[in-house]
Amino acid sequence: MKILISDAFDPSLSDRLKKFGEVTEDTDLVAECDVVLIRSKTKCTKEYIDAAPNLKLIIRGGVGLDNVDLEYAKEKGIAVHNTPEASSVAVAELAFALMISVPNRIIAAHNSMVDDKWEKKQLKRSELMGKVLGLIGVGRIGTVLANRARAFGMHVVGHDKFVKWSDQVELKEMDSVLGESDYLSLHVPFNADTENLINKKSIAKMKDGVVVINTGRGKCVNAEDMVDALKSGKISTYATDVWPSDPPPADYPLLKAPNVIMTPHIGASTKENLLRIGDQVVEIITNFNK
Ligand code: NAD
Repeated sequence: MKILISDAFDPSLSDRLKKFGEVTEDTDLVAECDVVLIRSKTKCTKEYIDAAPNLKLIIRGGVGLDNVDLEYAKEKGIAVHNTPEASSVAVAELAFALMISVPNRIIAAHNSMVDDKWEKKQLKRSELMGKVLGLIGVGRIGTVLANRARAFGMHVVGHDKFVKWSDQVELKEMDSVLGESDYLSLHVPFNADTENLINKKSIAKMKDGVVVINTGRGKCVNAEDMVDALKSGKISTYATDVWPSDPPPADYPLLKAPNVIMTPHIGASTKENLLRIGDQVVEIITNFNK
């Protein structure tokens, strides 16, 4: 069995996989490989799959499978697995970090100090306690975030198209969540249903001055409508880890918009998560070989 590690995994993984066969990180060898390991960077499109005639197994280290042509893989008899449980804590902690940085003015305070300013009087903070966190998508990551937010005294409401019960989140219709939230965090997968979910129409239903956090997928937010809302103050801050592509095009409007907090798609990139993903990859290949 020849295994291609196509994207960034924990450095120990290569050695751990040697018991299954030959392991390479040379993406030029894809045509010879039986198994390919990907994260976000590699796109397993029809063309990619056609260029890999030996391929039997694609493992996506992470949650979303939107970078794999699932239908075509199925047609070709290629098994596709992901590691959905591994990343929940890593992503939820980043969503929480983005959220708590806003009322604490961390970025503005840091930048003012870098600029040799002492803005002790100007930098007014506020607290998360007593505020409403709204979740769009109450799955694994949304639920972990809800648990952390409740520990900070937030009231957590959420909307999920399929989940109808949660012990962490008060489930509501989408419009109620949009209307009640002081902080709104997105945790839905990207698909035809969720593309541009946050747009002019849904933004109009939000509270004035809401903070929107996105560690889901960049394309769930309509960038032009978000820029308008940030300029008008309807949305006070957009904190995002996710983009329409990795990296986004240089002219992507949110890169230069006011009150945007940005991270380069690092939600899953904790060292602990990479180790957990590695464990799951080993388990998937072991089961595949049985
Ligand atoms: P999950 O499947 O456990 O939860 C997603 C939830 O969204 C599900 O409960 C589902 O019912 C709900 N949902 C689907 N369509 C919906 C809709 N139209 N409206 C409302 N709810 C809807 O997945 P998860 O592990 O919580 O991950 C959520 C998403 O986070 C992933 O799909 C991925 O896009 C993103 N993610 C980002 C990073 C990152 O690095 N920033 C890492 C991992 C995952």
